[in-house]
Amino acid sequence: MEVIHVKGGTYCIDLEEAYVPFYKINDRDIVLLDTGYIDDRDRLESVIEKHDFNLKGIITSHCHPDHIANNQYFKEKYNCIIAAPEFEAHLCSSFINLKSLCSSITLAEIKKQYWYMLFETDVYISDKQEGINFCGVDFKIVHIPGHSSAQICIITPDNVCYVADALVSYELLGYTKITYGYILTKDLKSKLKLLDLECDKYVVAHKGIYDEITKLTTDNIEFYKHSAVKIYESIKGRMTMEEIVKASSSSFGIKLSNIYKYDLVSRMLGSYVDYLNETGKIREVIDDGFRKYERNEECSVIA
Ligand SMILES: [Zn+2]
Repeated sequence: MEVIHVKGGTYCIDLEEAYVPFYKINDRDIVLLDTGYIDDRDRLESVIEKHDFNLKGIITSHCHPDHIANNQYFKEKYNCIIAAPEFEAHLCSSFINLKSLCSSITLAEIKKQYWYMLFETDVYISDKQEGINFCGVDFKIVHIPGHSSAQICIITPDNVCYVADALVSYELLGYTKITYGYILTKDLKSKLKLLDLECDKYVVAHKGIYDEITKLTTDNIEFYKHSAVKIYESIKGRMTMEEIVKASSSSFGIKLSNIYKYDLVSRMLGSYVDYLNETGKIREVIDDGFRKYERNEECSVIA
């Protein structure tokens, strides 16, 4: 089924690796919540055209490539407007700004690999804002930074919460080796914040629809902590970040086959190393001119 009815006027488009929710304002006008990955373009377009939808607007949850890849294309094709969290919207306003998001690759590579991430934002959502009237519809906004710098949840008028990437589904937890967080300490706090929501349905981008998310949230947190323990255990003696990347990826069974995979895995592991450092499980030292990490042996349990 390519379109799943969630509740009232809230639906999801079922893509290969994600659900893209939309809200039906009336029989034709819709607001999309995110626009998927670049490879999702044809599928999204065919759903919009098959149902004769009029795409009025897009609300962006956060600016990762698998959530915004078709923003600018749809804006130009359907003449729709885009709302996005302010800070992340600025990151995607130019290639130079985008460099701060992809700092390990060159500007030329960013232009080649991530050309589709630039888009023009019409409505900036500030980090203080708890709601937005967009295309004549009131959506509630919940700020859940951590997975990215300014990720938001969007709650439709049907009391359906799109949690974006704040949680991953059981299906994904079953086969993924490690999940991404930009700043884990913040991400874990944001996950706990989700437990205060009283919504009727929750849509997880990758890829689930739930009536209730208490256990899913706890299990997501445990999954993170389990990954952190695995990385902690791969630190033997004093190791540089590059040595930790090599040792940890081997313990997770991840092959570092090319520079893009290496960068992605380094970024993911870097967040866990920061987390272990911030929570006092490891410490940094300068050893013969190298920045290295070692365990704080007295704190061997990850709380
Ligand atoms: Zn994401």
